[in-house]
Amino acid sequence: MPRISESQIQAQYDFMSRVREINSHRGRLAAYIKTFGCQQNEADSEELAGMLTLMGYDIENDAENADIILINTCAVREHAESKAMSIAGRFKLLKAKKPDMIIGVCGCMVTQEGVSANLKEKYPYVDILFGTSELWRMPEILYTRLSTGKRVFEPGKGRYSDIAEGLPSVRSDRYRAYISVMYGCDNFCTYCVVPHVRGRERSREREAVLADVRKAVSEGAREITLLGQNVNSYGHGLYEDYDFADLLRDVCAADGDFTVRFMTSHPKDMTDRLISVMAAEPKVSKALHLPLQSGSDRVLRAMNRVYKRDDYLALVSRIRAAMPDIALTTDIIVGFPGETEEDFLDTVDIVKRVKYDNIYSFIYSPRRGTPAADMEQLPYEIKVDRYQRLIAVQSEMELAFNRGLEGSTIEVLVEGRSKTDTDKLTGRTERGKLVHFSGPDCLIGQRIGVRITHAETFALYGELLDTSLNGSAL
Ligand code: SF4
Repeated sequence: MPRISESQIQAQYDFMSRVREINSHRGRLAAYIKTFGCQQNEADSEELAGMLTLMGYDIENDAENADIILINTCAVREHAESKAMSIAGRFKLLKAKKPDMIIGVCGCMVTQEGVSANLKEKYPYVDILFGTSELWRMPEILYTRLSTGKRVFEPGKGRYSDIAEGLPSVRSDRYRAYISVMYGCDNFCTYCVVPHVRGRERSREREAVLADVRKAVSEGAREITLLGQNVNSYGHGLYEDYDFADLLRDVCAADGDFTVRFMTSHPKDMTDRLISVMAAEPKVSKALHLPLQSGSDRVLRAMNRVYKRDDYLALVSRIRAAMPDIALTTDIIVGFPGETEEDFLDTVDIVKRVKYDNIYSFIYSPRRGTPAADMEQLPYEIKVDRYQRLIAVQSEMELAFNRGLEGSTIEVLVEGRSKTDTDKLTGRTERGKLVHFSGPDCLIGQRIGVRITHAETFALYGELLDTSLNGSAL
């Protein structure tokens, strides 16, 4: 599996020093990164933050104070794409007040055909642009912009087989670490742009992943999430006899008090061996995201998902036989081209049977360059109506499930102060449920017991089981 060579990575460290030198007379410098889309993009932004920090920029939460703004875009959803463009438009005003400010756009969206040329022409205040395959070259791109004054646009294409190791990274969450195990995807679901904007599937070497896990745990991470578009096919093309089940077992063998999650799992690649490792390893969270997309065989075929509804249901049965209390979540696309009312009801039927802890449902929106974009589209009103009906079914089941938790005591990893009520702490259960309760700051980062006093559809409310806990982990 081709890697970016050590000397090429070292060259980027040299560019980081040169940027530092260029900026040395400018006093304190700040960087702001706006991230759209999935956890993979979050992980990429952590590498951008790591490189910017080494170049002397403090990472800021406020774009107004920034000397460089990077917009890390997503192409998977139309909404994220249009929002990224409108934000780029808003930053124009900031740049008018602060002409030295650098504005950069990166991520999946800029790799799509025509986007880079369009941004170059219509957004003259965008200084740098780079695609996902060029992210590791950000120091060089920024240096070129600063030293020549010229705009640098490198959407990148055709070098997706390369993996860059050894870049610095600054984690945005102290207690949760997102670690990529693989990049790209070979599945070509007909609605999805990922294989087109992130390239073919390629895995990181296990030693590199394990080193990142050990580092994150030593820095205080209590929850590790292993990331990939299809983690279940980890190791293809790299190892003959080492797969994701082996990697998961090796990650769990690392020292430290932490739990492990992973996403995303394609149902067709979920092996019984992986289910056994999940069940046997106490460090693996008993929570699994298993995208369904549709409950109709006809639609699944049109989506090129490869499995049928019965395969999916049989897989869920095997998973629940091994882990009866496992929390399942899923992705569902509503209103795929050609979806009939009957197809939609097949999806609702699976949602009712599986009883997911949560579903992430999306109204289908065509993505440029994918086969489904050329299929006959459904009227928007039909898509919205089905989406709302699906949400109503799920909300009712979720509320009933959550109400069943009232009076019980649940372990919660405390994340911090609630964004909506700073008097309260907020945390998540192993099942991923949000819990709000009163307590002191010293509990942040701890796993503690919370008695649930009240439940709503999207959150639980509770009280500390024992207020004298004050900081001791359960
Ligand atoms: S498995 Fe399908 S939906 Fe997931 S990233 Fe690959 S092509 Fe996209």
